[in-house]
Amino acid sequence: MSLTYNNRVALVTGAGRGIGKAIAELLAKNGVTVICVSKSAESCGAVADGIVAAGGKAKALAVDVANGAAVKAACEQLLAEFGNIDILVNNAGITKDGLLFRMSEDDWNNVLSTNLTSCYHFTKLVGRPMTQKRWGRIINITSVVGLMGNPGQANYCAAKAGMIGFTKSIAKEFAARNITVNAVAPGFIKTDMTAGLPEEAGEKLMGVIPLKRLGEAADIAHMVAFLASEEAGYITGQVFTVDGGMVM
Ligand code: NAP
Repeated sequence: MSLTYNNRVALVTGAGRGIGKAIAELLAKNGVTVICVSKSAESCGAVADGIVAAGGKAKALAVDVANGAAVKAACEQLLAEFGNIDILVNNAGITKDGLLFRMSEDDWNNVLSTNLTSCYHFTKLVGRPMTQKRWGRIINITSVVGLMGNPGQANYCAAKAGMIGFTKSIAKEFAARNITVNAVAPGFIKTDMTAGLPEEAGEKLMGVIPLKRLGEAADIAHMVAFLASEEAGYITGQVFTVDGGMVM
């Protein structure tokens, strides 16, 4: 099946590495102009350069998504430049793991503001002109642990579960404006975020993944690219697990 994108403009947060990079590259391959946002200018710059070198259209912008004022300034600059952003992928995320009694308030706050509050800021700022244009796709990258919980990740699981509630609420708020809002919940994907996992933990994981392999960033990008397409226009308020069958 070929998917339709009509030369839309997308903003992907956390596009400098891992899942966000794969999403940015796949959307660009489909003719979408992609604004690549990450914390460091080097990582989003390299991804945008790669897209342009491959014949696509991209722009890089370094923004700390945890900083509401910085997000506001960035969105104002981008909306002035592009007029409208049609597809928003809230993907930037971090972990700061620890059992609750050892979890500092800083680690709690950083994980909540980077993963969850960033969605509030971007969706509000990019969403307003989207509602005026009466077309939009918002895709939030949550996690299977937001559905299941995970010891040592209370901050991350709270943020990811929060993203699900946010997704379902905004889907209802924006539906009348022809904007779909969905969440994708990856299982265990091979990226820098999971690179530090001890070997025995990886082996244990294999036991609970029916498809018997860890996920690739591209596995998530394909789901996001579908949800961003014209053809996915009747799907909203949903959470799609892409996890090799871990959560059934
Ligand atoms: P990753 O490889 O660690 O990449 C994270 C990206 O987010 C980087 O580009 C990073 O920017 C950016 N980022 C982090 N903090 C930021 C901030 N404050 N401001 C702007 N950008 C920031 O992570 P990943 O594995 O691709 O994960 C992507 C998303 O999928 C996250 O939301 C994660 O929670 C979710 N997820 C991942 C997995 C998994 O197994 N990997 C599973 C479930 C869900 P820099 O490049 O500049 O550092």
